[in-house]
Amino acid sequence: MVDSRVSPEQVGFNRPTLAGEEFAFIRQAIDMAHLSGNGHFTREAQALLEEKVGGGRALLTHSGTAALEMAVILAGIGPGDEVIMPSFTFTSTANAVVLRGGVPVFVDIRPDTLNIDEALVEGAITPRTRAICVVHYAGVAASMDAILDIAERHGLALIEDAAQALGAGWHGRPLGSFGRFAAFSFHETKNIIAGEGGALMVNDPAAVERAEIIWEKGTDRVRFQRGEVAKYTWVDVGSSYLPSEITAAFLVAQLQAAEAITAHRLEAWGRYHAALADLEAAGRLRRPVIPDGCAHNAHIYHILVSQAERRPAILGGLAARGVNAVSHYVPLHSSPAGMRFGRACGTMRQTDDLSARLIRLPLHARIDAGAQARVVAALTEVLDG
Ligand SMILES: *Cc1c(COP(=O)(O)O)cnc(C)c1O
Repeated sequence: MVDSRVSPEQVGFNRPTLAGEEFAFIRQAIDMAHLSGNGHFTREAQALLEEKVGGGRALLTHSGTAALEMAVILAGIGPGDEVIMPSFTFTSTANAVVLRGGVPVFVDIRPDTLNIDEALVEGAITPRTRAICVVHYAGVAASMDAILDIAERHGLALIEDAAQALGAGWHGRPLGSFGRFAAFSFHETKNIIAGEGGALMVNDPAAVERAEIIWEKGTDRVRFQRGEVAKYTWVDVGSSYLPSEITAAFLVAQLQAAEAITAHRLEAWGRYHAALADLEAAGRLRRPVIPDGCAHNAHIYHILVSQAERRPAILGGLAARGVNAVSHYVPLHSSPAGMRFGRACGTMRQTDDLSARLIRLPLHARIDAGAQARVVAALTEVLDG
Protein backbone atom coordinates (compact mmCIF):
# COMPACT_ATOMS: atom_id res chain seq x y z
CA MET A 1 0.00 0.00 0.00
CA VAL A 2 1.26 3.46 -0.81
CA ASP A 3 0.58 6.33 1.55
CA SER A 4 -0.30 9.13 -0.85
CA ARG A 5 0.47 11.79 1.78
CA VAL A 6 4.14 10.86 1.80
CA SER A 7 5.93 11.61 -1.42
CA PRO A 8 8.76 9.25 -2.35
CA GLU A 9 11.06 12.24 -2.20
CA GLN A 10 10.45 12.67 1.54
CA VAL A 11 13.38 11.73 3.76
CA GLY A 12 12.03 10.58 7.13
CA PHE A 13 14.04 11.10 10.32
CA ASN A 14 13.85 7.49 11.50
CA ARG A 15 12.55 4.18 10.25
CA PRO A 16 12.51 1.11 12.52
CA THR A 17 14.65 -1.57 10.89
CA LEU A 18 13.58 -5.21 11.02
CA ALA A 19 16.38 -7.76 11.23
CA GLY A 20 14.29 -10.56 9.70
CA GLU A 21 13.66 -13.22 12.37
CA GLU A 22 11.33 -11.13 14.57
CA PHE A 23 8.06 -12.80 13.49
CA ALA A 24 9.53 -16.30 13.64
CA PHE A 25 10.85 -15.78 17.17
CA ILE A 26 7.56 -14.25 18.37
CA ARG A 27 5.70 -17.25 16.96
CA GLN A 28 8.14 -19.54 18.76
CA ALA A 29 7.55 -17.64 22.02
CA ILE A 30 3.80 -18.11 21.60
CA ASP A 31 4.26 -21.81 20.81
CA MET A 32 6.37 -22.24 23.94
CA ALA A 33 3.37 -20.99 25.95
CA HIS A 34 5.48 -18.93 28.32
CA LEU A 35 4.60 -15.29 27.64
CA SER A 36 5.46 -13.53 30.90
CA GLY A 37 9.04 -12.49 31.60
CA ASN A 38 12.26 -14.39 32.32
CA GLY A 39 11.65 -17.23 29.85
CA HIS A 40 13.71 -18.65 27.00
CA PHE A 41 14.00 -15.45 24.93
CA THR A 42 14.68 -13.21 27.94
CA ARG A 43 17.59 -15.48 28.92
CA GLU A 44 18.79 -15.58 25.30
CA ALA A 45 18.70 -11.77 25.00
CA GLN A 46 20.50 -11.38 28.31
CA ALA A 47 23.20 -13.85 27.26
CA LEU A 48 23.72 -11.94 23.99
CA LEU A 49 24.03 -8.65 25.89
CA GLU A 50 26.44 -10.13 28.42
CA GLU A 51 28.57 -11.40 25.55
CA LYS A 52 28.52 -8.02 23.75
CA VAL A 53 29.12 -5.85 26.78
CA GLY A 54 31.35 -8.25 28.68
CA GLY A 55 31.61 -8.99 32.34
CA GLY A 56 28.38 -7.97 33.97
CA ARG A 57 24.95 -9.50 34.43
CA ALA A 58 22.21 -8.23 32.09
CA LEU A 59 18.56 -7.96 33.13
CA LEU A 60 16.00 -7.07 30.47
CA THR A 61 13.56 -4.31 31.40
CA HIS A 62 10.51 -2.84 29.72
CA SER A 63 12.40 0.40 28.97
CA GLY A 64 15.67 2.24 29.38
CA THR A 65 13.80 4.41 31.87
CA ALA A 66 13.03 1.33 34.00
CA ALA A 67 16.69 0.27 33.89
CA LEU A 68 17.74 3.73 35.13
CA GLU A 69 15.18 3.50 37.95
CA MET A 70 16.62 0.14 39.00
CA ALA A 71 20.17 1.53 38.88
CA VAL A 72 19.21 4.41 41.16
CA ILE A 73 17.51 2.09 43.67
CA LEU A 74 20.57 -0.19 43.63
CA ALA A 75 22.92 2.77 44.13
CA GLY A 76 21.01 3.46 47.34
CA ILE A 77 19.85 6.96 46.36
CA GLY A 78 17.42 8.32 48.96
CA PRO A 79 15.84 11.65 49.95
CA GLY A 80 18.26 14.56 49.58
CA ASP A 81 21.00 12.48 47.96
CA GLU A 82 22.64 14.16 44.98
CA VAL A 83 23.49 12.63 41.63
CA ILE A 84 25.75 14.56 39.26
CA MET A 85 24.67 14.42 35.59
CA PRO A 86 24.55 16.53 32.44
CA SER A 87 21.54 18.78 31.83
CA PHE A 88 21.75 17.92 28.12
CA THR A 89 19.96 14.57 28.38
CA PHE A 90 16.56 12.91 28.30
CA THR A 91 14.20 13.38 31.25
CA SER A 92 14.57 9.76 32.42
CA THR A 93 18.17 10.28 33.61
CA ALA A 94 16.95 12.84 36.15
CA ASN A 95 13.46 11.42 36.80
CA ALA A 96 14.91 8.15 38.09
CA VAL A 97 16.71 10.14 40.81
CA VAL A 98 13.73 12.38 41.60
CA LEU A 99 11.45 9.35 42.06
CA ARG A 100 13.67 8.29 45.02
CA GLY A 101 13.62 11.79 46.53
CA GLY A 102 17.11 12.53 45.24
CA VAL A 103 18.38 15.71 43.62
CA PRO A 104 19.84 15.81 40.08
CA VAL A 105 22.82 18.18 40.05
CA PHE A 106 23.43 19.43 36.54
CA VAL A 107 26.93 20.06 35.20
CA ASP A 108 27.82 21.69 31.87
CA ILE A 109 28.93 19.68 28.81
CA ARG A 110 32.03 19.61 26.63
CA PRO A 111 31.65 21.54 23.35
CA ASP A 112 33.18 18.68 21.30
CA THR A 113 31.30 15.53 22.40
CA LEU A 114 28.30 17.23 24.10
CA ASN A 115 28.96 14.87 27.04
CA ILE A 116 29.41 15.87 30.68
CA ASP A 117 32.56 17.98 31.14
CA GLU A 118 34.73 15.82 33.39
CA ALA A 119 36.74 18.88 34.46
CA LEU A 120 33.61 20.26 36.17
CA VAL A 121 32.50 17.10 37.97
CA GLU A 122 34.69 17.39 41.08
CA GLY A 123 33.51 20.95 41.69
CA ALA A 124 29.92 19.68 41.92
CA ILE A 125 30.64 17.13 44.67
CA THR A 126 29.13 17.92 48.10
CA PRO A 127 28.74 15.81 51.26
CA ARG A 128 25.34 14.72 49.83
CA THR A 129 26.71 13.41 46.52
CA ARG A 130 26.20 9.67 46.10
CA ALA A 131 26.63 8.99 42.38
CA ILE A 132 27.71 10.29 38.99
CA CYS A 133 25.52 9.46 36.00
CA VAL A 134 27.19 9.94 32.62
CA VAL A 135 25.29 9.96 29.33
CA HIS A 136 27.01 8.76 26.14
CA TYR A 137 25.25 11.15 23.77
CA ALA A 138 24.83 9.83 20.22
CA GLY A 139 26.72 6.67 21.24
CA VAL A 140 29.90 8.70 21.72
CA ALA A 141 31.73 7.94 24.95
CA ALA A 142 31.99 10.36 27.85
CA SER A 143 35.59 10.68 29.15
CA MET A 144 35.50 7.45 31.08
CA ASP A 145 39.11 7.38 32.39
CA ALA A 146 38.79 10.73 34.16
CA ILE A 147 35.27 10.07 35.43
CA LEU A 148 36.08 6.58 36.74
CA ASP A 149 39.03 8.08 38.58
CA ILE A 150 36.84 10.78 40.19
CA ALA A 151 34.18 8.24 41.19
CA GLU A 152 36.80 5.98 42.78
CA ARG A 153 38.60 8.72 44.66
CA HIS A 154 35.34 10.06 46.14
CA GLY A 155 33.66 6.70 46.73
CA LEU A 156 30.75 7.50 44.38
CA ALA A 157 28.71 5.02 42.38
CA LEU A 158 29.11 5.41 38.63
CA ILE A 159 26.00 4.91 36.51
CA GLU A 160 26.11 4.94 32.70
CA ASP A 161 23.04 6.13 30.86
CA ALA A 162 24.04 4.05 27.86
CA ALA A 163 20.55 4.25 26.34
CA GLN A 164 22.05 5.29 22.99
CA ALA A 165 25.35 3.47 23.30
CA LEU A 166 24.94 -0.26 22.61
CA GLY A 167 27.77 -1.39 20.33
CA ALA A 168 29.99 1.62 21.08
CA GLY A 169 33.29 1.52 22.94
CA TRP A 170 36.04 3.51 24.62
CA HIS A 171 39.68 2.40 24.17
CA GLY A 172 38.61 -1.10 23.22
CA ARG A 173 36.12 -1.57 26.04
CA PRO A 174 32.34 -1.61 25.42
CA LEU A 175 30.24 1.25 26.78
CA GLY A 176 27.92 -0.09 29.44
CA SER A 177 30.77 -2.02 31.08
CA PHE A 178 32.37 0.91 32.96
CA GLY A 179 29.75 1.88 35.51
CA ARG A 180 28.65 -0.11 38.53
CA PHE A 181 25.34 -0.01 36.64
CA ALA A 182 24.45 0.86 33.06
CA ALA A 183 21.12 1.30 31.27
CA PHE A 184 20.44 0.46 27.62
CA SER A 185 17.28 1.37 25.70
CA PHE A 186 15.62 -0.58 22.90
CA HIS A 187 13.02 2.08 22.18
CA GLU A 188 11.96 2.22 18.53
CA THR A 189 14.17 5.31 18.00
CA LYS A 190 17.40 3.58 19.10
CA ASN A 191 19.78 1.47 16.99
CA ILE A 192 18.65 -1.93 18.31
CA ILE A 193 14.95 -1.99 19.07
CA ALA A 194 12.11 -3.88 20.72
CA GLY A 195 9.39 -1.25 20.38
CA GLU A 196 9.67 -0.37 24.04
CA GLY A 197 12.44 -2.14 25.93
CA GLY A 198 15.67 -1.79 27.85
CA ALA A 199 18.29 -3.57 29.90
CA LEU A 200 20.18 -3.00 33.10
CA MET A 201 23.82 -4.07 33.21
CA VAL A 202 24.94 -4.95 36.73
CA ASN A 203 28.73 -4.84 36.58
CA ASP A 204 29.25 -5.30 40.33
CA PRO A 205 28.81 -9.00 41.22
CA ALA A 206 27.90 -8.00 44.80
CA ALA A 207 24.79 -6.19 43.49
CA VAL A 208 23.41 -8.95 41.25
CA GLU A 209 21.23 -10.73 43.81
CA ARG A 210 19.54 -7.50 44.94
CA ALA A 211 19.07 -6.47 41.30
CA GLU A 212 17.21 -9.72 40.59
CA ILE A 213 14.95 -9.06 43.60
CA ILE A 214 14.14 -5.46 42.61
CA TRP A 215 13.48 -6.72 39.07
CA GLU A 216 10.88 -9.26 40.31
CA LYS A 217 8.61 -7.03 42.43
CA GLY A 218 10.82 -7.23 45.52
CA THR A 219 10.65 -11.03 45.71
CA ASP A 220 13.29 -13.77 45.57
CA ARG A 221 11.42 -15.42 42.71
CA VAL A 222 14.55 -15.65 40.52
CA ARG A 223 16.31 -17.69 43.23
CA PHE A 224 13.18 -19.84 43.56
CA GLN A 225 13.19 -20.50 39.79
CA ARG A 226 16.82 -21.60 40.04
CA GLY A 227 15.84 -23.99 42.85
CA GLU A 228 17.87 -22.10 45.46
CA VAL A 229 14.92 -21.51 47.83
CA ALA A 230 11.85 -23.69 48.49
CA LYS A 231 9.31 -20.86 48.08
CA TYR A 232 9.49 -17.21 47.18
CA THR A 233 8.39 -14.24 49.22
CA TRP A 234 8.60 -10.44 49.53
CA VAL A 235 12.13 -9.58 50.68
CA ASP A 236 12.90 -5.99 49.55
CA VAL A 237 11.56 -3.02 47.58
CA GLY A 238 10.99 -3.66 43.91
CA SER A 239 8.62 -3.25 41.01
CA SER A 240 7.55 -4.98 37.82
CA TYR A 241 10.51 -4.41 35.54
CA LEU A 242 10.40 -7.51 33.28
CA PRO A 243 9.32 -7.29 29.65
CA SER A 244 7.18 -10.11 28.25
CA GLU A 245 8.67 -12.92 26.19
CA ILE A 246 7.06 -11.42 23.07
CA THR A 247 9.20 -8.32 23.47
CA ALA A 248 12.26 -10.43 24.31
CA ALA A 249 11.72 -12.59 21.19
CA PHE A 250 11.69 -9.48 18.98
CA LEU A 251 14.82 -8.23 20.73
CA VAL A 252 16.75 -11.48 20.23
CA ALA A 253 16.29 -11.12 16.47
CA GLN A 254 17.64 -7.58 16.68
CA LEU A 255 20.57 -8.44 18.93
CA GLN A 256 21.62 -11.28 16.62
CA ALA A 257 21.81 -8.72 13.78
CA ALA A 258 23.30 -5.93 15.91
CA GLU A 259 26.70 -5.85 14.17
CA ALA A 260 25.14 -5.63 10.70
CA ILE A 261 22.67 -2.92 11.78
CA THR A 262 25.48 -0.89 13.35
CA ALA A 263 27.67 -1.35 10.26
CA HIS A 264 24.90 0.03 8.01
CA ARG A 265 24.43 3.02 10.28
CA LEU A 266 28.18 3.68 10.39
CA GLU A 267 28.29 3.62 6.60
CA ALA A 268 25.47 6.17 6.37
CA TRP A 269 27.06 8.29 9.11
CA GLY A 270 30.32 8.27 7.18
CA ARG A 271 28.57 9.40 3.98
CA TYR A 272 27.15 12.48 5.74
CA HIS A 273 30.51 13.18 7.34
CA ALA A 274 32.33 13.13 4.01
CA ALA A 275 29.63 15.10 2.19
CA LEU A 276 29.55 17.85 4.83
CA ALA A 277 33.32 18.37 5.13
CA ASP A 278 33.32 21.31 2.71
CA LEU A 279 30.47 23.10 4.49
CA GLU A 280 32.39 22.74 7.74
CA ALA A 281 35.60 24.02 6.12
CA ALA A 282 33.63 27.01 4.86
CA GLY A 283 32.44 27.74 8.41
CA ARG A 284 28.78 27.03 7.62
CA LEU A 285 28.27 24.29 10.21
CA ARG A 286 30.16 22.04 12.60
CA ARG A 287 30.19 18.26 12.18
CA PRO A 288 30.22 15.78 15.11
CA VAL A 289 33.55 15.24 16.87
CA ILE A 290 34.60 11.69 17.72
CA PRO A 291 37.41 11.71 20.29
CA ASP A 292 40.49 9.49 19.91
CA GLY A 293 39.90 6.03 21.31
CA CYS A 294 36.13 6.20 20.90
CA ALA A 295 34.37 3.70 18.64
CA HIS A 296 30.91 5.25 18.23
CA ASN A 297 27.81 3.41 16.98
CA ALA A 298 26.36 6.03 14.59
CA HIS A 299 23.26 6.54 16.71
CA ILE A 300 22.86 10.19 15.68
CA TYR A 301 24.30 12.41 12.95
CA HIS A 302 24.05 15.97 14.24
CA ILE A 303 25.31 19.29 12.99
CA LEU A 304 25.72 22.59 14.83
CA VAL A 305 24.60 25.66 12.91
CA SER A 306 26.43 28.89 13.69
CA GLN A 307 23.47 30.94 14.92
CA ALA A 308 20.73 29.60 17.19
CA GLU A 309 18.32 32.26 15.89
CA ARG A 310 18.51 30.78 12.40
CA ARG A 311 17.72 27.19 13.45
CA PRO A 312 13.90 27.42 13.17
CA ALA A 313 14.21 28.79 9.62
CA ILE A 314 16.76 26.10 8.72
CA LEU A 315 14.52 23.30 10.05
CA GLY A 316 11.57 24.90 8.21
CA GLY A 317 13.58 25.14 5.00
CA LEU A 318 14.57 21.48 5.25
CA ALA A 319 10.96 20.43 5.93
CA ALA A 320 9.83 22.41 2.88
CA ARG A 321 12.34 20.38 0.84
CA GLY A 322 11.00 17.08 2.22
CA VAL A 323 13.75 16.54 4.79
CA ASN A 324 12.60 15.65 8.28
CA ALA A 325 15.46 16.99 10.43
CA VAL A 326 14.88 17.69 14.13
CA SER A 327 16.38 19.46 17.15
CA HIS A 328 16.98 17.57 20.40
CA TYR A 329 16.81 18.12 24.18
CA VAL A 330 15.51 21.18 25.93
CA PRO A 331 18.20 21.30 28.66
CA LEU A 332 16.78 19.89 31.89
CA HIS A 333 18.05 22.75 34.08
CA SER A 334 15.79 25.14 32.14
CA SER A 335 12.73 22.84 32.04
CA PRO A 336 9.89 23.36 34.55
CA ALA A 337 10.51 20.06 36.38
CA GLY A 338 14.30 20.48 36.24
CA MET A 339 14.02 23.85 37.96
CA ARG A 340 11.69 22.38 40.58
CA PHE A 341 13.57 19.17 41.37
CA GLY A 342 17.16 19.75 40.29
CA ARG A 343 19.98 22.21 40.71
CA ALA A 344 22.54 23.54 38.26
CA CYS A 345 26.16 23.67 39.40
CA GLY A 346 28.02 26.51 37.69
CA THR A 347 27.06 28.06 34.38
CA MET A 348 25.28 26.04 31.71
CA ARG A 349 26.90 28.12 28.98
CA GLN A 350 27.83 25.25 26.63
CA THR A 351 24.59 23.36 27.28
CA ASP A 352 22.46 26.41 26.49
CA ASP A 353 24.48 27.37 23.43
CA LEU A 354 24.96 23.94 21.84
CA SER A 355 21.44 22.61 22.46
CA ALA A 356 20.02 25.69 20.69
CA ARG A 357 22.23 25.17 17.59
CA LEU A 358 21.92 21.40 17.20
CA ILE A 359 20.11 19.71 14.30
CA ARG A 360 19.83 15.93 13.85
CA LEU A 361 19.74 14.71 10.25
CA PRO A 362 17.69 11.70 9.11
CA LEU A 363 19.60 8.50 9.92
CA HIS A 364 18.60 4.86 10.04
CA ALA A 365 20.01 1.52 8.91
CA ARG A 366 18.20 1.55 5.55
CA ILE A 367 18.76 5.15 4.46
CA ASP A 368 20.46 5.12 1.07
CA ALA A 369 23.08 7.32 -0.55
CA GLY A 370 20.46 8.97 -2.79
CA ALA A 371 18.31 10.09 0.13
CA GLN A 372 21.38 11.35 1.95
CA ALA A 373 22.50 13.31 -1.11
CA ARG A 374 19.06 14.99 -1.14
CA VAL A 375 19.50 15.89 2.55
CA VAL A 376 22.94 17.40 1.88
CA ALA A 377 21.67 19.31 -1.18
CA ALA A 378 18.70 20.67 0.78
CA LEU A 379 20.94 21.67 3.68
CA THR A 380 23.41 23.43 1.37
CA GLU A 381 20.57 25.36 -0.25
CA VAL A 382 18.98 26.34 3.04
CA LEU A 383 22.28 27.44 4.60
CA ASP A 384 22.99 29.58 1.53
CA GLY A 385 19.50 31.10 1.65
C1 LIG B 1 16.08 6.84 25.01
C2 LIG B 1 16.77 7.37 26.22
C3 LIG B 1 16.33 7.09 27.52
C4 LIG B 1 15.05 6.36 27.79
O1 LIG B 1 14.91 5.12 27.22
P1 LIG B 1 13.43 4.48 27.05
O2 LIG B 1 13.69 3.10 26.61
O3 LIG B 1 12.72 5.31 26.03
O4 LIG B 1 12.77 4.54 28.38
C5 LIG B 1 17.08 7.53 28.59
N1 LIG B 1 18.19 8.26 28.39
C6 LIG B 1 18.65 8.58 27.17
C7 LIG B 1 19.92 9.36 27.03
C8 LIG B 1 17.94 8.16 26.04
O5 LIG B 1 18.39 8.51 24.82
